[in-house]
Amino acid sequence: MRKADTKGWNTRTRLVHEGVRRSQYGEVSEAIFLTQGFVYDTAEQAQQRFETPGDDEFIYARYGNPTVRMFEDRIAALEGAEDGFATASGMAAVNGALMSLLKAGDHVVSARALFGSCLYILENVLARFGVEITFVDGTDNDAWVAAIRPDTRVVFLESISNPTLEVIDIKAVSDAAHAVGATVVVDNVFATPIWSRALEMGADVVVYSTTKHIDGQGRCLGGVVVGTRDYIRKTLEPYLKHTGGAMSPFNAWVMLKGMETLDLRVRAMTTAATAIATALEGDARLSRVIFPHLASHPQHEVAKRMMDKGGTVLSLDLAGGQGAAFRFLNALQIVTISNNLGDAKSIITHPATTTHQRLSEEQRAELGITPGLVRLSIGIEDQDDLLADIRQALDAV
Ligand SMILES: *Cc1c(COP(=O)(O)O)cnc(C)c1O
Repeated sequence: MRKADTKGWNTRTRLVHEGVRRSQYGEVSEAIFLTQGFVYDTAEQAQQRFETPGDDEFIYARYGNPTVRMFEDRIAALEGAEDGFATASGMAAVNGALMSLLKAGDHVVSARALFGSCLYILENVLARFGVEITFVDGTDNDAWVAAIRPDTRVVFLESISNPTLEVIDIKAVSDAAHAVGATVVVDNVFATPIWSRALEMGADVVVYSTTKHIDGQGRCLGGVVVGTRDYIRKTLEPYLKHTGGAMSPFNAWVMLKGMETLDLRVRAMTTAATAIATALEGDARLSRVIFPHLASHPQHEVAKRMMDKGGTVLSLDLAGGQGAAFRFLNALQIVTISNNLGDAKSIITHPATTTHQRLSEEQRAELGITPGLVRLSIGIEDQDDLLADIRQALDAV
């Protein structure tokens, strides 16, 4: 249980009460301030606000908004971070975190196993502006040490990779990065803010797609970046407020309400994911069951140190290849075929033909994305119903 630095509250209390800003009406549920602008009483007040805006003083929703600020304060409190900045999507958050830190000539070291759009930002955007990128096998601590140079400015990684669920030792990578003064940026979606303490492990900047577990009910896109107040307000905010990646107040409200139940949902999903992974291990129709807290996981020891529990996603490799994987997907009756994760509904994805279709066969092989691999995001349905559904679909294969 994480204790708040100031109030001594535990996680669940903070998820419900942190960041609340009440209007003069004293509403119980957080208000949606669906407004782009704010009225000033006098010309002098407008001048003052543009010169030195106070914490609770807003100018324009691209810069900040009371509902968005409530969400930023709540997630920062959960993470034990000094501050946060909410964005229109997870990719706006990743793009902002990286672009705000880098300039032409800088060197970046990144894990190779990345979400497709993160890879695009590094390979197709940053590289175009003269940023040099070295990719490494994220699970190989020696490879990080060898790749990090005195001029390395940023180290980027996804703490748990998609879809093969490799776990990166954030502490070892951060130690190597900090030795040369590099900033460690961690995309922490799969680890969830409930099970991972990336900042405590050494990360400087943590990014979430709030589209996933934080909304958790498949409604809105969103993202957030957390870190020191200095980084968030002096480096990130100027970049984001001028380039327009702001989160909408409506989406911030959905995220705030999502956070109230985040711990409950993630715990239930994790309990079911753990039970299902354990029950399926050893099934002859599966050549691999990948789940970070199974003893058979290649980075099991690292996973135990990085996360309190194994998370909400598991991957299965159907021994019969793509044909078996497709028959399995098509036979499922509760688990739906889609590509989100962290949702209340259990969702299954065949990465080789969807999310990772763009990669060459060699690239997929290198990342362990075999034709039989499926990624299963466990929702909040009854665990026995889910296991029965998965078993009947395996029988249909
Ligand atoms: C979904 C996801 C993103 C992108 O988030 P969006 O909200 O879809 O923009 C980035 N990184 C990881 C690991 C993700 O799962």
